[in-house]
Amino acid sequence: MYDVVVVGGGPAGSAAALRAAKLGAKTIVIERGSEPGAKNVSGAMIRVNDLSMFDVKSLPYEREVSKVRLSFDGVQIEMKPKDKLVNVGRLKLDRWLASQAESAGAVLITKTTVLKVDGRRIVTDRGEIEGERVILAEGANALVSINSGLRRELKPEETVQTVKEVYSLSKDEVNKRLGLGEQEGISVRYLFSNPIPGAGFLYTYKDSIAFGIGVHMRSLISHRVRPQDVLEEVKRSLGINELVKGFSLREYSAKIIPENGFPAWRACSGNLFLTGDALGVVNPITFNGIGPAVISGYIAGELAVNDQCGSYESSLMMERTLSQAIKLRPLVKELLKEENIRAYISMTSDALSSWTSGDLSLDLKANLWRLTKHALLLLEAIS
Ligand SMILES: Cc1cc2nc3c(=O)[nH]c(=O)nc-3n(C[C@H](O)[C@H](O)[C@H](O)COP(=O)(O)OP(=O)(O)OC[C@H]3O[C@@H](n4cnc5c(N)ncnc54)[C@H](O)[C@@H]3O)c2cc1C
Repeated sequence: MYDVVVVGGGPAGSAAALRAAKLGAKTIVIERGSEPGAKNVSGAMIRVNDLSMFDVKSLPYEREVSKVRLSFDGVQIEMKPKDKLVNVGRLKLDRWLASQAESAGAVLITKTTVLKVDGRRIVTDRGEIEGERVILAEGANALVSINSGLRRELKPEETVQTVKEVYSLSKDEVNKRLGLGEQEGISVRYLFSNPIPGAGFLYTYKDSIAFGIGVHMRSLISHRVRPQDVLEEVKRSLGINELVKGFSLREYSAKIIPENGFPAWRACSGNLFLTGDALGVVNPITFNGIGPAVISGYIAGELAVNDQCGSYESSLMMERTLSQAIKLRPLVKELLKEENIRAYISMTSDALSSWTSGDLSLDLKANLWRLTKHALLLLEAIS
């Protein structure tokens, strides 16, 4: 019998276990992969401050991001990040997060899949255990959460499909091709409109480069196009094929990102707490999900120990990172619509070219209704 059982050893699960164990609860994390991160290959860009509940001095990052570049339709804007951003490999990151939860006293068992939760009974493919409280941190494919009735399955119109590739060669070659110094990293965010509208990213690891895209499932279906074909076309048009020429393809993965989530889904019921991607707190345009996952996990860990299911939703809304992601959801939903991505790419590139050419005859009238609607949604989110 455990006080707290955490399903999933990703960022949300480890943060929940860290908090629960630190508060003295008998805590166990159940992870289906051979080790934390094994099911979450390659990596991401994270804001170090978001992980402040962990001992970030030993954070195993690949490169510190010294430049962030935004790229769309031939326009590129580069800036120096205000916060400390790093590119991390998920295997190393997830292992490190889990090891800190273990050091705080949590037990981690791997190669074990939770099949269902029935009150205090947690049924796995290797037998049953009992838990007073259960934190579901199983990621976007949240089968246990769905079967427990806390949320429903994602519909295509609420789902962003991602495909990602990692190319490796050597540290020197990564530095040379991206104009980077030793240990220096870059993250690029793309917006593209062909063959269908979507967002992309490029991250730098020590000796490799990750490139990936996210496209709305609804667009894939309506255009009858496969995500891997979109990836190929985007790589070709953005010059990624040239950039990684001679590198070897080390990883290929595909995953979904929920576009909907809390508060449309309940965050807690009885002894069950939902957290991280299972709760739908990832931003499907910026791909920022690890910060919201650890923050929601940490809160879930504390409230599970104190048996405060009723306070969970209001506590989530009190965290700025989470409340911002949640309040921006109606705007993000709008921006993910094909017609809006296309309109904004073309409006921004028109604005910049008219500025550089000195011809300021920009026609915003055609987009007045769109701009007003989205400005109102933004105002509502930040007010
Ligand atoms: C292509 C792509 C790029 C991204 N880039 C970024 C980025 O740059 N920055 C960022 O912050 N976020 C990024 N994200 C989002 C980020 O990956 C997620 O938001 C984050 O991993 C969510 O953490 P989590 O702990 O909720 O879920 P996950 O990381 O998915 O972890 C869930 C864990 O639960 C385990 N599990 C699942 N079901 C069971 C079960 N039944 N029994 C036992 N174990 C189970 C899984 O094996 C997994 O280890 C990206 C996502 C994608 C798809």
